[in-house]
Amino acid sequence: MFVKVARFKKTKKMNINEIRKDFPILSRKVYNKDLIYLDNGATTQKPLQVIDAVSDFYKQTNSNIHRGVHYLSDKSTEMYENARVKVQNFINAEHKEEVIFTRGTTDAVNLVAFSYGEKYIQEGDEVIITEMEHHSNIVPWQLLCERKKALLKYIPLNSMGELQLDELDNLLSERTKILAVTYVSNSLGTINPVKEIIKKAHKCNVPVLVDAAQAIQHISVDVQDLDCDFLAFSGHKMYAETGIGVLYGKQSLLDAMPPYQGGGDMVDVVKLEKTTYLKSPFRFEAGTTNYVGAISIAAAIDYINRLGISNIQKYEHDLLQYAIQQLEAIDNLSIYGNSKNKSAVTSFLLDGIHSYDTGVILDKMGIAVRTGTHCTQPVMSYFGISGTVRISFAMYNTFEEIDVFMKGIKRVQRMFG
Ligand code: PMP
Repeated sequence: MFVKVARFKKTKKMNINEIRKDFPILSRKVYNKDLIYLDNGATTQKPLQVIDAVSDFYKQTNSNIHRGVHYLSDKSTEMYENARVKVQNFINAEHKEEVIFTRGTTDAVNLVAFSYGEKYIQEGDEVIITEMEHHSNIVPWQLLCERKKALLKYIPLNSMGELQLDELDNLLSERTKILAVTYVSNSLGTINPVKEIIKKAHKCNVPVLVDAAQAIQHISVDVQDLDCDFLAFSGHKMYAETGIGVLYGKQSLLDAMPPYQGGGDMVDVVKLEKTTYLKSPFRFEAGTTNYVGAISIAAAIDYINRLGISNIQKYEHDLLQYAIQQLEAIDNLSIYGNSKNKSAVTSFLLDGIHSYDTGVILDKMGIAVRTGTHCTQPVMSYFGISGTVRISFAMYNTFEEIDVFMKGIKRVQRMFG
């Protein structure tokens, strides 16, 4: 049955047609069909405002940062450091020195696992993560625990695709040295109560890293309000370039942590016998950073701020509810991740039809979805499946696109009898 939910069609303040004009790729055809891009969890498309900021930078300003006395180097440095301040304000960090530019979320988590881990984790210590994490918030901790002979513990899932938080009290111990958790699950869409988790962990003096890769583009993130110790996200999932991301860390923690990588720009004095290092953020930004990527993040933040993150959140929530209501009305379809608290992501499977086959048929209709494990194999193991079909929204998606997608799903079912 096809359920039209008219009340979802009214989100004030967001003129989606105008927004879509900012994203040139959305008007291209795929196999001669209108592109319907529902793979925003993997990466978002880029608005002209970001594309132009990058292009203008190369045309007008480009020079390596922090190094030259000349005009262009000075200008590049100024724009790079302004981008840092823009990120600081966007996540409400107390100090700009708490914002480190990285290659992305993966790089940011590895930085903390290596550097914090090197200093604070000894044999027999414990690290807590969750069964819901993306591989990039699992494997760095596994590597650390193997290296240090520490124990990695997991907050388990429940059948709704939520964390069993009552288990956290049992998992925390005087040996726990850090906890890492995703804000929003990239395969289930669940929004975790990270503030509550952080409070519990802090009661045991355990710092918390929040993976905000799937949160930063959808919901307002305030690091001081969360009181998180570290927070990581990627530019390419928030309308900026790839190869750039952010690690936020509390200054007191960062200044006590050893360098992650050595190289130019992170040093104070280099002698053949011994080197001293700069403080954060430079200590953690060895070599030539992706300074153009940082400028793209600044442009993306301007774009998001112009629309208002709360307007984006409300609109995407309406899209998600509309999609879920219709998916629930389709026979022989199971949704994975049924938390009441979900962001712009939902996963499902059609009975007897492999996720890959569903994805390939939808693709031929111009509909881009993601299939497989979404780099969350433990989540798939928990549900006893090999993968799901995942749709994930951005603020430029429309209710009409969801209608076409639903027709596509029914077509897949018909094709498989
Ligand atoms: N964490 C989550 C929740 C993600 O969704 C992703 C990307 N799919 C990552 C981490 C890794 O991000 P990146 O590949 O940009 O480093």
